[in-house]
Amino acid sequence: MKLRKVTAASATVCVLALTATACGGDNNNGGGSSSGGGKSIKIGIKYDQPGLGLKKPDGSFSGFDVDVATYVAKQLGYKPNQIEWVETKSADRENALQRGDVKFIAATYSITPERQQKVDFAGPYLLAHQDLLVKKDSDITKGTDLNGKNLCSVTGSTSAQNVHKTIAPKANLKELSSYSECVSALQSGQVDALTTDDSILAGYAAQDQYKGQFKLAGLKLSNENYGIGVKKGDTKLVDQINKALEKMESDGSWEAAVKKNFGPADYKNEPAPKIGQIVK
Ligand code: GLU
Repeated sequence: MKLRKVTAASATVCVLALTATACGGDNNNGGGSSSGGGKSIKIGIKYDQPGLGLKKPDGSFSGFDVDVATYVAKQLGYKPNQIEWVETKSADRENALQRGDVKFIAATYSITPERQQKVDFAGPYLLAHQDLLVKKDSDITKGTDLNGKNLCSVTGSTSAQNVHKTIAPKANLKELSSYSECVSALQSGQVDALTTDDSILAGYAAQDQYKGQFKLAGLKLSNENYGIGVKKGDTKLVDQINKALEKMESDGSWEAAVKKNFGPADYKNEPAPKIGQIVK
């Protein structure tokens, strides 16, 4: 009898808390804690992608993914100071979710059938396209120009996978662990081009230290539907995040985040995607 009362009481606390992580039995799902007096949520982002996910020298974070994640976290019941940002590089994302290192990932994370075998996605919340970044005076203008050329991309990304499959079968692909390393390789002439999403490339091209040095080829080499990754099977969280994303689009916050983060790089983004609709 006594035990029952305790169970009922804690169930009420869980309902009031309005979050998954604040309730018992969820500890191995990672990404959050309610111990030590304050709950928190761990969210995976990129740390080196200006305009999307960037850790600034003062230790603060900025970018469209950061703003989307912050909005979603708020809808889940977490204030900005309750968010713990975790770097999730392209090749680490599925593992980070499977291990429960983070509750969700907003890191230029394209929804693909292969990834959906391992993780679930909410969204999409942005449609980007694979493109090329080259030096200003480069004569590379199309995908097949890359055959025989040195090209950089990142391990575990759709960008790297597409190179030999659909873009340039004979390109010499150098795979590094982050796009910022690829930008350095492009600047120093080690590679002739860098390929990934136009959203990411525009952010680098607009950086003060690279201004006037690079150009985007302006090719839409693929459709990249950015989703928010969660642990496989957590359909409740997917539904909660989808509701938050719908609200973000309908109340104008999505558009505001686009202007704030893509405006400085002059990135012409696609209109807000319909939640649940993937552009093939
Ligand atoms: N959006 C693509 C992907 O998920 C490329 C960008 C990235 O590596 O994060 O693989």
